[in-house]
Amino acid sequence: MSQRRSITVARQASLRSTNLALAASRVFAADEPVARVDVARSTGMTRSTASRLIDELVESGILKEEEPRTSNHPGRPAVPLSPASGHYFALGLEVNVSHLAVRLMDLSGTVAAQQDLDGEFIGSAPREVLGTLARLARECLSSLPRNATLTGAQIALPGLVDSSRNLLLRAPNLRWDNVDVFGLLANEGLEELDTLTCSMANEADCAAMLFARTAPGRRSEHTNFLYLSGEVGIGAALVRDGQLSLGQRGWAGEIGHTCIDPSGPACGCGATGCLEQYAGTRALLARAGASTVDELLARDRAGDPASNAALRVAADALALAVANAANLMEVTTVVLGGDLARFAHVHEPRIVEELDRRLLIRPFVEPRVVSTIPDHAAPALGAATIALERVIADPSRWIPERASSRASS
Ligand SMILES: [Zn+2]
Repeated sequence: MSQRRSITVARQASLRSTNLALAASRVFAADEPVARVDVARSTGMTRSTASRLIDELVESGILKEEEPRTSNHPGRPAVPLSPASGHYFALGLEVNVSHLAVRLMDLSGTVAAQQDLDGEFIGSAPREVLGTLARLARECLSSLPRNATLTGAQIALPGLVDSSRNLLLRAPNLRWDNVDVFGLLANEGLEELDTLTCSMANEADCAAMLFARTAPGRRSEHTNFLYLSGEVGIGAALVRDGQLSLGQRGWAGEIGHTCIDPSGPACGCGATGCLEQYAGTRALLARAGASTVDELLARDRAGDPASNAALRVAADALALAVANAANLMEVTTVVLGGDLARFAHVHEPRIVEELDRRLLIRPFVEPRVVSTIPDHAAPALGAATIALERVIADPSRWIPERASSRASS
């Protein structure tokens, strides 16, 4: 093939990929099913091009056609399009300090299978924990419908990850360093991951993406916020215009190691007086003398002084850290996730109070603190969502090129 011809073919292929992604993203993003003509109008494509691309997306099982709308206008009624379910799936995996979770989700956001396991993974052996996670994932994959496609996996981890090398660098509360998570999962029985697109992210980033979406590719009403995910550790994720703001290496958001008091208790990170040592679940329970969150909540309701005091200490520390972050990063909406949401009755008013006092831009904005519905598997659900958005961003990977569509533009 001559060089000029090969460049022309490459351009056509990449144009087709770009246009397929554009057409798909419009259907996935819509709150209500849209018709081919809507896709053409919103993308600037001709009706025939949009229609041809949509045909490919429907034939391949990425989109589905619904019952035609009845119309008073002459001509054929418009056929509404929506994300198809049951064909393309992704695995959302989660390792947290006290919880493992797996969610098998399809492109419509439907969870086909789920597995959860509570445990105590501080100082655990990565191979053993990931072996357990692989077994949970295998159990979920047994529900994968015949002829369905597993497109990839994403794992949520409580630490710093190097996403370019798919390496967990450091998870202080697990005491894991330099762990090849997907290599171990493949060795422990998930060998199909070797040939799929798999990636990793901090658990707070994954949970934040879940809050920013109502389904894969579809934004929720929340587009700009600071998400706080609390367990033993406390992570944060900043979402701007519906997307994660990750920092150069993806390591932004370590609010759990914000210093509350330099002379405070030692932290797993090696420093002292970090936020986690006041508002992290383990530190909070220890200070209150309770063994579970449920017990602490019951004692708090009953007016137990130690529990009331420990929650006050946690809320004071959290409110201070959030107010500092809010001034630095122009945050006006704060979202409490994980265990922090379970203490919303104490944390929400205290954070609002501190934002009212400390946020310089306060006279011009109305800060809001909202809590998620507590769900230990939020990072796993967010991870599955992120993995499925890779399919929406490049559907051509899953559609064989047809002779008739080579020149689609
Ligand atoms: Zn620390």
